[in-house]
Amino acid sequence: MAVTDPAAKEYERMSMFIVPKETAGVEILRNMGVGTHEAEGSHAYIRYSDVQVPKDHMLGPRGGAFVVAQTRLGGGRIHHAMRTIGQVRKAFDMMCERVLSRTTQGSRLADKQMVQEKIADSWMEIEQFRLLVLRTAWKIDRYKDYLKVRRDIAAVKALMPKVFHDVASRALYLHGSLGATGEMPFVEQVIQSFHMGLADGPTEVHKVTLARQVLRDYKATDDLFPSQHIPKLRAAALKKYADRIELEVANQ
Ligand SMILES: Cc1cc2nc3c(=O)[nH]c(=O)nc-3n(C[C@H](O)[C@H](O)[C@H](O)COP(=O)(O)OP(=O)(O)OC[C@H]3O[C@@H](n4cnc5c(N)ncnc54)[C@H](O)[C@@H]3O)c2cc1C
Repeated sequence: MAVTDPAAKEYERMSMFIVPKETAGVEILRNMGVGTHEAEGSHAYIRYSDVQVPKDHMLGPRGGAFVVAQTRLGGGRIHHAMRTIGQVRKAFDMMCERVLSRTTQGSRLADKQMVQEKIADSWMEIEQFRLLVLRTAWKIDRYKDYLKVRRDIAAVKALMPKVFHDVASRALYLHGSLGATGEMPFVEQVIQSFHMGLADGPTEVHKVTLARQVLRDYKATDDLFPSQHIPKLRAAALKKYADRIELEVANQ
């Protein structure tokens, strides 16, 4: 993204470009690696010095970088959520198999109540998250407009790292030391849960978006007391009753 129209309105100043990495002036300083992965060609420090690309390398309209980015991010966020469901289901399945298989201190892990709580919590969290993701995907299909589904997308994005982290951590823990080794996927999953909290914007920002969107459906009361203040409701009910009696008397 680069500023192409500095005098335009705030969200219309930047344009998006495709820049082939062989272009003169593009310098990949180094790949930094993410999580447990060695520095491989995915995330890098890149320096652009007087880079020029032909006009047809512009992605979307001039000044439209934010629209292009948001279109990609709306879809990207729900895809992250869908992939996360697959990951947590995998961790959950492995956790269930393990607790049924491992016996310690005279009984299976599956028979110990504190273990059962972990299974129950994980199941409930996964199903809540899965249904929220499903409903959000359904709304995206229905409205075909990410702006109309902003609060739902923000909600799945904000919820995702916690569900991922909590289920993967329980699976790691219930596998004992084996769970903490590189022979099981859980360490990688826990690290990935932090990626999910950062990639496409940190959780806090999505919560702010969600709260702002939700509050649009409400308005402040112009009274000193809340609209559901019980004495106020009683007074309104009494007045309605008195009005009805008055009407009936008048009709007689
Ligand atoms: C695996 C991975 C892949 C990524 N892929 C891409 C990509 O493809 N393209 C791309 O452009 N970026 C990508 N990112 C970058 C990612 O979008 C940013 O790291 C993220 O938006 C946070 O920005 P930042 O790193 O500058 O942290 P900062 O903005 O400095 O935030 C640091 C922390 O401060 C807190 N914080 C920030 N803002 C607020 C707020 N408004 N209210 C309260 N607390 C706040 C949060 O705890 C946050 O984690 C990727 C990141 C990761 C980890």
